[in-house]
Amino acid sequence: MSDPAGYAANPLKSRGRKWPEPSDSSRNDFQRDRERIIHSTAFRRLEYKTQVFVNHEGDLFRTRLTHTIEVAQIARSIARLIGVNEDLTEAICLSHDLGHTPFGHSGQDQLNACMREYGGFEHNMQSLRVVDKLEERYGSFDGLNLTFESREGILKHCSKVDASKLGKLGKRFLDGTSPSIEAQVANIADEIAYNNHDVDDGLRSELLQIDQLNQLSIFRRFFREVERSYPKLIGRRKVNETVRRIINSLINDLVLQTKRNIHSADPKSIEDVRNSRILVEFSPSLADEHKELKNFLRKNLYQHDSVLKMSNKSKRIVNSLFNLFTENTALLPKKFRVGEANEQPRRISDYVAGMTDRYAIKLYHQFIDSESEAI
Ligand code: MG
Repeated sequence: MSDPAGYAANPLKSRGRKWPEPSDSSRNDFQRDRERIIHSTAFRRLEYKTQVFVNHEGDLFRTRLTHTIEVAQIARSIARLIGVNEDLTEAICLSHDLGHTPFGHSGQDQLNACMREYGGFEHNMQSLRVVDKLEERYGSFDGLNLTFESREGILKHCSKVDASKLGKLGKRFLDGTSPSIEAQVANIADEIAYNNHDVDDGLRSELLQIDQLNQLSIFRRFFREVERSYPKLIGRRKVNETVRRIINSLINDLVLQTKRNIHSADPKSIEDVRNSRILVEFSPSLADEHKELKNFLRKNLYQHDSVLKMSNKSKRIVNSLFNLFTENTALLPKKFRVGEANEQPRRISDYVAGMTDRYAIKLYHQFIDSESEAI
């Protein structure tokens, strides 16, 4: 194996963990982070949390867990090609959605509305809270005690108000510096994964049609290429050939442009990376096409009548549960009940955010409405 690039994160030069721990002779610190995440409770919950389609709508749609695994796969390929740390990249990807509420973005929007007077709710901040505080796996500390570099990567975006409370970790949002290349890779891999699997799930659900997608230059280009290569191909196999070609082209373009950026910025260390502009990016023409795809999905899939109908039901469940526990704290599991009244809303939000879709539906039926179908 060649020496890692100077601009890659190096586990031997990590800024460390909050609670110092002896090093492990068989695994480096970023490997240990990744493995702590895989063994966490929050990670297992991702299996029953919505990505776009609610869990029971179909067995083949992406869940938060399969989305997360696809993000990690794409990011690891990119990390290897540009010579940055694969373990750290993977750790960031596997943890990036741990703070997501049940029912995807509608769940988060509703919980944010419920928490408006108490500091709001944001899934990215909640992912950090999960790994810093909420996981209960160690005798000596709360959370998973991850390295600074993993935590830096989890915090993809952050308001200035929140950043000012996070010390070193929040600093880059206040002074406009960048995160590690590994974090930048994880961030874009997330977008590559969801834009492409949402095309696939959109077609599978029949909420999207091929004719619509052919209005997009990136889809049309590869769809036609597949037609030329396999004139008799039809159905899912044709879609899958197209989508995998789009993913490949995005990865290849990203790697080429990023290598060019690294060459011209010439960072010698992770500190140089932090003081550079964002280096991981697409070429301008592919960035435009990727954005066109993203905007298309927003308009035609995420705001499709049947997705919105499910969103409204989801919001009703999250809102009802938040109100139920606010009015009846005795119904909360003991560890979410606190003596200080001003801390109670955040603990209720932790409890609701941690629920899987089906657990939230179960509680809704149990405490709120046993008659009608919740969703
Ligand atoms: Mg994601």
